[in-house]
Amino acid sequence: MKVFKILAAAGAIAAGTVATAQERFITIGTGGQTGVYFVVGQSICRLVNRDSAKTGLKCTAPSTGGSIANINAIKAGDMDMGVAQSDWQYHAYNGTSQFEGDKFDKERAVFSVHSEPFTVIARKDANINSFDDLKGKRVNVGNPGSGQLATMEVVLDAKGWTMDDFALASELKPAEQAAALGDNKVDAIVYTVGHPNGSIQEAVSTVDANLVPVEGEAIDKLVADNPFYAYATIPGGMYKGSDDDIKTFGVKATFVTSADVPDDVVYEVVKAVFDNFDRFKKLHPAFANLKEEEMIKDGLSAPLHPGAEKYYKERGWM
Ligand code: GLU
Repeated sequence: MKVFKILAAAGAIAAGTVATAQERFITIGTGGQTGVYFVVGQSICRLVNRDSAKTGLKCTAPSTGGSIANINAIKAGDMDMGVAQSDWQYHAYNGTSQFEGDKFDKERAVFSVHSEPFTVIARKDANINSFDDLKGKRVNVGNPGSGQLATMEVVLDAKGWTMDDFALASELKPAEQAAALGDNKVDAIVYTVGHPNGSIQEAVSTVDANLVPVEGEAIDKLVADNPFYAYATIPGGMYKGSDDDIKTFGVKATFVTSADVPDDVVYEVVKAVFDNFDRFKKLHPAFANLKEEEMIKDGLSAPLHPGAEKYYKERGWM
């Protein structure tokens, strides 16, 4: 015990002499623990914190409600950065859709990350083989603050449906939705998320379930009319019970911040990621195919933060 105390004190003195940079705490908004945003935030922080002694930056990435919650927290100054779907990055900056009358013109893009297909997974015994089969069923549409709930509302609107078209529209969080499917409390789950992810893996390991294609005229129109939507395919064999490729549409996960966050802070965060890019890509299978040149432009509709732009220019990418 005594030995430990002495060592700890010595460590504190050593750290005190080394840490010359001024300490600054930054918070990154993520999503539910069983999603991919949580891994994005945790991975970025892990890389940022390796250089804490030099940069003074101490990064944390707590679990949050998701895209809309993150954008609102950054806008309010409660968080510095966060992960958000490309559709909600766009709407927040332009003051459209859910952000009508609530424009976030200080929103700044940093980079995009993985693709997020709009994913529907259903219990096999519910016989749901297309989006239209969801009518009259019990569906977990996503927690308030999540990107999936907001995008689901857009899809329903495009189809001329409302939440009343479901027997039940529950708003459970990602960490609760797989158990709800397994316990037969819902017939299907809607989740806009990178693949593979823990939540859907958990769902298919507890109950026979199948991914559901999301196609048709309404989806074609959404993709044609909006730059932030694209067709997407969830590869067959990724999850038990879904051997065929599944067609749907989707967005990009993007990393956003505010113009109020200082340039040097954003620069150091971006540098931590791209100076260690091979390490970053290994932190989740959804990051494996990321390419720097795509990440600095795809899915970004708000202006780039100057701190990010400075790093990209230094690397000769712009
Ligand atoms: N796309 C979801 C959202 O915006 C989060 C997905 C995830 O956590 O990986 O809320």
